[in-house]
Amino acid sequence: MRINAFSDVCLRALMLLSAAPDGELMTTQAIADGVGTPYNHVSKAVLKLRGMGLIEAVRGRSGGVRISPAGRAATVGGVLRTLDAREDLVDCESAHGDCPLNNNCGLRGALRRAREAFYRELDSVVVSALPHQSQMEPVFVTLLTRRPA
Ligand code: SF4
Repeated sequence: MRINAFSDVCLRALMLLSAAPDGELMTTQAIADGVGTPYNHVSKAVLKLRGMGLIEAVRGRSGGVRISPAGRAATVGGVLRTLDAREDLVDCESAHGDCPLNNNCGLRGALRRAREAFYRELDSVVVSALPHQSQMEPVFVTLLTRRPA
């Protein structure tokens, strides 16, 4: 199963923020640079993650966002479930007409169960436990070199 681009950006941002030195605030631009994603995409992800209570914002000139206690405890499965509000993986009903096989379809049920199994596997994966030093160190070093003096 493929996760959508928005969920991917949200997970990247959470991983980056969870690896930031304790309490350090990051701007949306720094997150965008850190996860290699355009600013406007990251800006929407930051808004969503704030709404989910997974990151918290501090306003002001040197403000930014940091991971919240709930964000530290968040699992990949939990985040993906919240972000993917689709009831089904396929569009059995669409503007172009309903699928003619849409009568107690076994495939639809099988796909739902498969998706649930996918999420269940990821329910035990804590996002903040994923980043490791050799992965994150080069990212933060690059961000430091871009930081305005
Ligand atoms: S075959 Fe079944 S799952 Fe696929 S579109 Fe039709 S109703 Fe939906």
